[in-house]
Amino acid sequence: MSYQSSKQSASQAAELGPAGASRVAVDLKEVTKTYHTGPIEVPALRGVSLRIASGEFVATAGPSGSGKTTLLNIIGGLDRADSGEVWVAGHDLQRLSLSELARLRLNRIGFVFQTYNLLPVLSALENAEFTLLLQGVPASQRRERVEKLFLEIGLDGLENRRPAELSGGQQQRVAVARAMVTEPALILADEPTANLDSASAIALLDVMEHLNRTTGTTFIFSTHDPQVMERAHRLIRLRDGQIVSDETRESRQPQITTTKTAG
Ligand code: ADP
Ligand code: MG
Repeated sequence: MSYQSSKQSASQAAELGPAGASRVAVDLKEVTKTYHTGPIEVPALRGVSLRIASGEFVATAGPSGSGKTTLLNIIGGLDRADSGEVWVAGHDLQRLSLSELARLRLNRIGFVFQTYNLLPVLSALENAEFTLLLQGVPASQRRERVEKLFLEIGLDGLENRRPAELSGGQQQRVAVARAMVTEPALILADEPTANLDSASAIALLDVMEHLNRTTGTTFIFSTHDPQVMERAHRLIRLRDGQIVSDETRESRQPQITTTKTAG
């Protein structure tokens, strides 16, 4: 593994191109978050500043409790920062209303969770098209988009299976399809491989990297698995709610192959 410390080159990458600021997918400035459980205060993020360019393939790593989930939830608008600035796909999340946040999540952000979170009574296809249903996309278009994506990520032929009839790796690929089918600007995946065996974890990373390369969608995933960290083009390590290192892998700069912008 050949990571090179290059906080600077990452922010330079974010500023490349004629679109300027629109190439920035995520921009955090001094973000803090403390959870209050009764009288006890638990600081989860303690001044996190971070800029991620559109099209990057980034892992956040760190021990349990280091703030990975909190960070992804704040970027995804599932949780609010106590202070600091949170810019995602050109929006100042701290200033959005709850309904504006919900709309941003629906249209611009895809989520992948550790435990897949598929609906057990729905088929793989029905699970994957669910967000399109919420967006009001007609049935024929929903099916067409899901089938195209399934073919691309090796799920063709499994459309009618329920989650219980799929392996963990297949279920997580359905979850990735569900996240990607709306063509979001950003995919957030919280420990997506934590429940997978080693081969399935690598297969999932292959799928995510392929989608990142071919669509230009920004991927941010958390992990504490070294073999998953190794696949990231940029690795951000957290400890006790702070960034302790931010390294870009030189041979794998973000590859933006479409004209999609973050805005
Ligand atoms: P990670 O995902 O790296 O394990 P988290 O972001 O889940 O870390 O947690 C960071 C810190 O915040 C931990 O100390 C955790 O116990 C605390 N924390 C996270 N979520 C909550 C919550 N909903 N209520 C109280 N404390 C929380
Ligand atoms: Mg977590």
